[in-house]
Amino acid sequence: MSENNERLEQCRLACAECQACTLGASRTHSVFGAGSPSARLMFVGEAPGEREDATGIPFVGAAGQLLDRYLFEVGIPRSDVYIANILKCRPPHNRDPLPEEQDACISFLRTQVRIIRPRLIVCLGRISAQKLIKPDFRITREHGVWFSRGTFDMCAVYHPSALLRDPSKREDMLEDMYAIAERLRAASQ
Ligand code: SF4
Repeated sequence: MSENNERLEQCRLACAECQACTLGASRTHSVFGAGSPSARLMFVGEAPGEREDATGIPFVGAAGQLLDRYLFEVGIPRSDVYIANILKCRPPHNRDPLPEEQDACISFLRTQVRIIRPRLIVCLGRISAQKLIKPDFRITREHGVWFSRGTFDMCAVYHPSALLRDPSKREDMLEDMYAIAERLRAASQ
């Protein structure tokens, strides 16, 4: 096991035991994250849904399958990226994560970023962008805009669940995903 894998596994075990907010009591599984431990590209969503809670794996439901299709379309293997959420446990009825839940959980994500050290972090949806990029982030106006954060660059795209609800946003998403693939290629040279 690589050093990154070992450090991520230690963090995952701590996450599986975590009861730092009330969501720990209602989860089936905590959903830590999945993908390459040395990924150059990391996606961060907001919280696990029903399928993720049942399996312990992020983005395996309909939204995850849609994200897979975009990755395939722009030539990024899913096995090359790392995918995680701000919250590691599912909020009841998929409601938005509360600020206190985000504050309680964010240290796991910070540790994941410190270990993986991605070059690009892409927020999936408004909640993640408002937590990680800036509190007043407007996803309809600012999706696809890059922000430099020292050792990595960040942007946000629509959450795949939003694209399932509103297919008119899919063209914007495809454009953003092509731009992400291009930036990833440049960052890898
Ligand atoms: S959501 Fe995060 S902080 Fe809350 S119990 Fe789960 S792992 Fe712990």
